[in-house]
Amino acid sequence: MKIAMIGTGYVGLVSGVCFSDFGHEVVCVDKNPEKIAKLQAGEVPIFEPGLDVLMAKNVAAGRLSFTLNLAEAVAGADAVFIAVGTPTRRGDGHADLTYVMAAAAEIATAMTQYTVVVTKSTVPVGTNRDVARAIKKANPQAQFDVASNPEFLREGAAIDDFMRPDRVVVGVESGKARKVMADVYKPLFLRDFPVVYTGLESAEMIKYAANAFLATKITFINEIAALCEKVGADVKDVAKGMGMDGRIGNKFLHAGPGYGGSCFPKDTKALARIGQDHAVPMQITETVIKVNDEIKRRMLDKIVDLCDGKVNGKTIAVLGVTFKPNTDDMRDAPSLTIVPALVGGGAKVRVADPQGQHEGEALLPGVKWCDSAYQAAQGADVLVILTEWNEFRALDLDKLARKMTVPRMADLRNIYSATEVLEAGFDKYLGVGR
Ligand code: NAD
Repeated sequence: MKIAMIGTGYVGLVSGVCFSDFGHEVVCVDKNPEKIAKLQAGEVPIFEPGLDVLMAKNVAAGRLSFTLNLAEAVAGADAVFIAVGTPTRRGDGHADLTYVMAAAAEIATAMTQYTVVVTKSTVPVGTNRDVARAIKKANPQAQFDVASNPEFLREGAAIDDFMRPDRVVVGVESGKARKVMADVYKPLFLRDFPVVYTGLESAEMIKYAANAFLATKITFINEIAALCEKVGADVKDVAKGMGMDGRIGNKFLHAGPGYGGSCFPKDTKALARIGQDHAVPMQITETVIKVNDEIKRRMLDKIVDLCDGKVNGKTIAVLGVTFKPNTDDMRDAPSLTIVPALVGGGAKVRVADPQGQHEGEALLPGVKWCDSAYQAAQGADVLVILTEWNEFRALDLDKLARKMTVPRMADLRNIYSATEVLEAGFDKYLGVGR
């Protein structure tokens, strides 16, 4: 099959590379000339484990290429995927569909045969029909169907998630489009990964409902964590005991500094907005958004406590700034709330992150970037663990403590136990919910 992938971000590039690995002929398109130049030179512009190897393999096999020329990629394609960004629109929380609709208009005039136009971007209910209308308006002769195929991959584990999904959701309305989508995903169907066929609106809704539910689960355990701190319970034990109940499950029950990233913040806001637009307030989701903001602020209070009430003049080492491990993505990361507040309060902030510096330099002005946790800890009064990268999970705590002026730790991911940290010579330890 011939596939065009519009947008080569975290979703588009991973999807394009994986589709080519299925054996399809894939052309990936982006508007950003720097990205395309890098990709054409064999460089992966984002950090995603395993992507470089899989990309090189499929480029070498002649199945995968990159271009700025959308029309060339779309001509003759059986399926065109829209995988452009849908960030929060300034001011009202709605998903900004500018990029999706611009891509749809360009696709409309470039189609040369029957094509399924598939929206992979996360888009509000009704968008696929808007895409269909826009295409028809721009090119009344176009032969096409639209399909909604929301993506559920997680950055940092994107290839495995794409190749071994819990399910593939396909919203389609014609047998012809369904057949094309079945062919696109055939290698997964043959390996018995479940496919959920729905109408367009249900597919669009599944993505928002799933993300809002996950954000709710995280926020629930974070709120329980706050109560644990007051009543003397340990949220790790509580989550373990809760998660063993098959109806609850143990995933997304890790207390931490509040959810962030490229999806949960914007998708919860967009769902709340969709609810308001239809006079069905999403009260749980609206509350989750508010509570999550409060949780991030509570994390700051913990750090201030460890600084004896005042961060001014203190040196604070921050380990991890990306929104989670194994990605360089900084979008809506908790670090973007916490670090500027520390810098603004007069602290000297020393940061280490295995992949975050490239993105982080522009986003976190005034910090000192360090090559390792030990370098960041040099002369620090407080050490904050913000992202649970593997390299921060087994630190030599004695060595860390020796490098610090006043060894105190805010472990916002509950990686360590108070006992081991204090035994290593730290003077104080604060986790989350314990
Ligand atoms: P991204 O910002 O990393 O990438 C989007 C890319 O699209 C950019 O490279 C941009 O230059 C390009 N682009 C924009 N308009 C274009 C056009 N008209 N033609 C060609 N290229 C264009 O975004 P992302 O993180 O990959 O997310 C894409 C969509 O997938 C979003 O709707 C997001 O909500 C959804 N999603 C993301 C994730 C994730 O983990 N990042 C997971 C599931 C779903």
